[in-house]
Amino acid sequence: MDVFIEPIGRLMNEFSKLPGVGRKTAQRYAYKVISMSESEARAFADAIVDVKHKVHFCKVCGSFTEEDVCGICRTRDASTICVVKEPKDVSVLEKLHEYKGVYHVLHGVIDPMNGVTPNDIKIKELLARVGEGNVKEVIMATNPDVEGEATAMYIAKLLKPLGVKVTRIAHGVPVGSELEYADDVTLARALLERKEL
Ligand SMILES: [Zn+2]
Repeated sequence: MDVFIEPIGRLMNEFSKLPGVGRKTAQRYAYKVISMSESEARAFADAIVDVKHKVHFCKVCGSFTEEDVCGICRTRDASTICVVKEPKDVSVLEKLHEYKGVYHVLHGVIDPMNGVTPNDIKIKELLARVGEGNVKEVIMATNPDVEGEATAMYIAKLLKPLGVKVTRIAHGVPVGSELEYADDVTLARALLERKEL
């Protein structure tokens, strides 16, 4: 039997859906919410609902935006496209303030073991963007793990006949890791020292 009264147990249950939040942390979060004022709790709940209502994918690059087309796509140099796995990778690279081009989010990587084929991720959309003819370089910045490498190679092969330069971020990023966990200096260097594929 659960020792928590229903509303507390329910809130704990919701918190434990977050990554890295176990039972104990969920309990601490729930008690924190109980100690909030009505308006603080309301602001907290509203922020959660708001993010679901307002945030969607940019129709050009697939990153998060509040508009149809994101600020990066509207204002930046579109002759270089940096290809990443997930929307969160865009913010990881953006905080380096190093890169001046645009992005393309694949929304996954090719992973046959888990049934993800090239058709399941946004490769067609990338080819269409490059096919428009104004792109000079495509930087493959998928994670340096097996699936990320395989996806980078696969896409490079498709892009080369289109006459575009295809590069891969250098191996400063530890092999098998995710971009998100690389430190800023390592990641900035990996981006600068990219190699042609
Ligand atoms: Zn965009």
